[in-house]
Amino acid sequence: MSSVHVELGERSYDVLVAANLIPNLGRHMAARMDARRAAIVTDENVGRLYLEPVRQALSDAEIDSVEIVVAPGEASKSFSTLERVVRELLAARLERSDIVIALGGGVVGDLAGFAAAITRRGMSLVQVATSLLAQVDSSVGGKTGINTPEGKNLVGAFFQPRLVLADTSTLDTLPPREFRAGYAEVAKYGLIDDADFFSWLEENRAAVFSGEDARGEAIRRSVAAKARVVATDEREAGTRALLNLGHTFGHALEAACNYDASRIIHGEGVAIGMAMAHRFSVHQGLCAPETAERVERHLAAAGLPTHMNSIPGRGFSTSELMDHIAQDKKVKAGRLTFILSRGIGEAFIAEDVAPHSVETFIAGEL
Ligand code: NAD
Ligand code: ZN
Repeated sequence: MSSVHVELGERSYDVLVAANLIPNLGRHMAARMDARRAAIVTDENVGRLYLEPVRQALSDAEIDSVEIVVAPGEASKSFSTLERVVRELLAARLERSDIVIALGGGVVGDLAGFAAAITRRGMSLVQVATSLLAQVDSSVGGKTGINTPEGKNLVGAFFQPRLVLADTSTLDTLPPREFRAGYAEVAKYGLIDDADFFSWLEENRAAVFSGEDARGEAIRRSVAAKARVVATDEREAGTRALLNLGHTFGHALEAACNYDASRIIHGEGVAIGMAMAHRFSVHQGLCAPETAERVERHLAAAGLPTHMNSIPGRGFSTSELMDHIAQDKKVKAGRLTFILSRGIGEAFIAEDVAPHSVETFIAGEL
């Protein structure tokens, strides 16, 4: 078993990455916290597959548990589902010292994490991440929250878990489209600041998609990258913003598709967004065209989209995308903040991007 430590002083925690971790969940918890009662929050898909083994693992460690099951999908990151989860936690008479276990992908992690943050002013949180995206990204770092009609993730809290489990065996049941989408976030870590990792992914992509060893290695390296960023900039005052590579364009596309999963899911938006961020960097004279082509080649080889024209039912307008970009929370004082790149592994924060240059670029992409 490999373990990555997220160093945040007295709020530090471990991220365990290995196959077959769930059967030992209760023991891993008991070793780290006073664990007597827990609520398992999950969605219907994940619950069907993993609720029973999780329940068993908790009972093996003499931890009592209750279950809260929500509908799968982004729509569950809402005020109404949050209310339901919080009220079920209270109705089950869970105390502040009890534990919320987020069992699932990023949707459950963000929702249950936020519920844990606000219920009784903060319960203990354990993330059991079951999607690739959750294992390499959303379960680590403490961002929790929900969506509102005004936008994604606009309501939430920074709330660090006490423990994260990335049981790589759970990925065997993840739908292939979800695996590919999660892979976009893996590639992101190479593109941000680790050219060696990106080259390793170029050589080992097929093995990451099909074999336990390479998959575990890719996840461990991704988690280590995320842990490093979070330890230096927990609240996104600076370098943590690099993790948003591809996300400004990606979020705009998700919003323009009304978060309709039949058209686009988060990781696909990130893949298109990263390809666009590199093409935009070329457009701005910052980056060689070969770099953008290399990024596109790798994402496409992984079965990911790299252009908004490949989104089913496309038909976006420049002005609607600009509106979404302007609403993105990474906008400061009317100027646009983008993560741009000078090369593979050389992403940087550009805080003063002129809106008209983005507009020209998008018009050229359509
Ligand atoms: P998700 O949670 O919706 O999971 C994707 C689908 O896979 C769901 O239908 C789920 O039921 C299913 N699933 C999950 N694990 C499974 C498994 N092992 N076997 C079978 N089915 C499984 O989506 P996601 O991609 O994991 O997460 C996306 C969310 O994460 C978005 O809301 C995004 O905003 C958020 N996010 C948060 C952060 C953060 O730092 N908090 C970072 C990145 C993304
Ligand atoms: Zn993301």
